[in-house]
Amino acid sequence: MPETEEKYVTIEKLVEQIRQSGKPYQLDRILEAYKTADAAHHGQKRHSGEPYITHPLAAAMILVELGMDTESVVAALLHDVVEDTDMDIYEVEKRFGKEVALLVGGVTKLGKIPYASKEEEQAENLRKMLLAMAQDIRVIIIKLADRLHNARTFQYLPDQKRREKALETMDLYAPLADRLGIRRIKEELEDISLRCLDPIAVAEIEAQLAERGERQKFLESIKERIYERIRVEQPNAYIEGRVKSIYGIYRKVYMQGRGFDEVFDIYAVRVIVDTVTECYNILGIIHDMFIPIPNRFKDYIATPKQNMYQSIHTTVIDRAGGTFEVQIRTWDMHYTAEYGIAAHWKYKMGMQGKDKFEERLAWLRQLLESQKEAEGDAGDIVQSIKTDIMPEEVFVFTPNGDVIRLPSGATVIDFAYAIHSAVGNRMVGAKVDGHIASVDTEVQTGMIVEILTSNKSQGPNRAWLNLVKTTEARNKIRAWFKKEKREENIAEGTQMLDRELRRMAVTMTEEQRQAILQIEAKRQHFETIDDLLAAVGYGGVQVSKIAPHIQTEFQRCTRASKNEQQINLKPKKHKASSGVIVEGLEGFLVKFSRCCNPLPGDDIVGFVTRGYGVSIHKSDCINVINGQKDPEQRGRWVHAEWAQSTHSETFQSSIEIIGTNRQGLLADLTMLLNNLRIPLHSFMARDIKDGRASFQVTMEVSDIQQLNYVISQVRGIHGITTVERISG
Ligand code: MN
Repeated sequence: MPETEEKYVTIEKLVEQIRQSGKPYQLDRILEAYKTADAAHHGQKRHSGEPYITHPLAAAMILVELGMDTESVVAALLHDVVEDTDMDIYEVEKRFGKEVALLVGGVTKLGKIPYASKEEEQAENLRKMLLAMAQDIRVIIIKLADRLHNARTFQYLPDQKRREKALETMDLYAPLADRLGIRRIKEELEDISLRCLDPIAVAEIEAQLAERGERQKFLESIKERIYERIRVEQPNAYIEGRVKSIYGIYRKVYMQGRGFDEVFDIYAVRVIVDTVTECYNILGIIHDMFIPIPNRFKDYIATPKQNMYQSIHTTVIDRAGGTFEVQIRTWDMHYTAEYGIAAHWKYKMGMQGKDKFEERLAWLRQLLESQKEAEGDAGDIVQSIKTDIMPEEVFVFTPNGDVIRLPSGATVIDFAYAIHSAVGNRMVGAKVDGHIASVDTEVQTGMIVEILTSNKSQGPNRAWLNLVKTTEARNKIRAWFKKEKREENIAEGTQMLDRELRRMAVTMTEEQRQAILQIEAKRQHFETIDDLLAAVGYGGVQVSKIAPHIQTEFQRCTRASKNEQQINLKPKKHKASSGVIVEGLEGFLVKFSRCCNPLPGDDIVGFVTRGYGVSIHKSDCINVINGQKDPEQRGRWVHAEWAQSTHSETFQSSIEIIGTNRQGLLADLTMLLNNLRIPLHSFMARDIKDGRASFQVTMEVSDIQQLNYVISQVRGIHGITTVERISG
């Protein structure tokens, strides 16, 4: 093979790789993409001096090796044309279709994310952001292929640049590959980066490995012994030796401070079989052949790792004294371990899968869960999956490249306050992606937002309270108003309260107002009415919380004066006589018959029962008409009338209804009251603790019976727990 061909990927090599894959790639489209990219990048060179086209070709090659689909390979060939040549995304779409354009656009967008080495939390935010930005997971995989080839040619970069890129690769791209379970890319990215970042340690590790050359021979002999033992029972088993990656050793030895010889899994034997049952059979055989070390057994088949990795790991000692790890897995598990999410395309290619959603769920499941295993909190898992399907978070940059995480729907104002309250309070404007934008602009993932501040700023605007999404921003704005603007707060609070009371049709005299507000101020633990109003003004106290109290207090006042006229009705109506005069006398034991349910105002007649007092019927009740015909009973019918001529009067009565709040509860309640044709005076609904709701209903009823009837009907509504008359 000529020297030049060995050095870089050519289209011929790519085509050859595609042929070897045996997969139904659309070669014509791939060749077309190659020609397009080659023409577009014509004349451009890499740092290595090679023609630029070698880079997209190499990225495409990596994707073919991973088993990715035609669209991915085409997109990889075109991945730099939008950024680096005259060709724009519309032309890509026109010539290669929407899907390829989306992939290319996605990769281009990821390339624009600024990165400066940050603490771990920032790196984590960035990784999440990358995932959130990539609507199609293939975008990330293409980006990884892009980065992998760039990493392979890190040596051509100037020192400083190389270090930066290596750090970024280590912090961002290798963990991404890990999350996606693509072990091959992850390990290569880590090893290359480590060589740039800590070449001395790498040299030491390599020297140590070389020194242990006989270990490799030992492992070879172990492999053969295992094979001898299992070949009768498991003729299909495949056995291979494996050396831990350089970075894997580095982590254990240099970062966790273990001795080189304490790392048992530097050398491992891997047994690959067809079925899970065979895995456990092999495990039994291994534990029979060698002595297992306690607590060094991990069953990732029963409990897969979050990136879907499955295998059985066990560390054993050979009777001759050598310690080594054995990994046992099926071929399926092996592909998943090597290719992770990419295994999906490796398998699925050529099949028209309709499981897009399921697929998305699957990868989200594995990658969204943080590496720190949260023990079985299903709620969290569902939440994190949900969060990424319907993104509830956005990631926005400061001009320095810090990532600010905000809930979706957050505005520039939220962003400003998330940086610092002083930034929010002095904000006079903002730039989004370099352009002046209004402060109510909703921020989107990937935006770079710059807050313009001025010492001459008048401070936040009250209207901002309605524009912010985060509690943090709201609280900070309120805190500012609380501190800075007492007079304004009082005026604002007064206005808000008045508006609310008007809405509730509460009109008080100034005297009443002073008295009632003073009561409310005390209740809310304020010294003065102004303190209360100021708190309402800056939002410390919600007007919707205090207005009902004021209304109730107001009603109590007015009812007190109204009741003075009614008060003498009540005892007569409700006490001794039950409101009925029988033969001109009160005080009879009466009961209202169930057959006709007489109400005040009805013409009534009494029937002297044997032992149950006088039962009251409507005069036109069918039982009365029939009963009066009976000569034997005739003498027992007596004259009856209502104690007061109340038939034209109605009384206001209030009830409190408490129930478990549910969708439609309010509607059910109002519908019932409407069906009962009960005139309502007021109706107040509010949430109380524990997901319950309270309703205060003031209505007009003609008498206690009607009220009781309403109460019994309300009790029948699903979810209602208590219904009580409010006395006074
Ligand atoms: Mn590139």
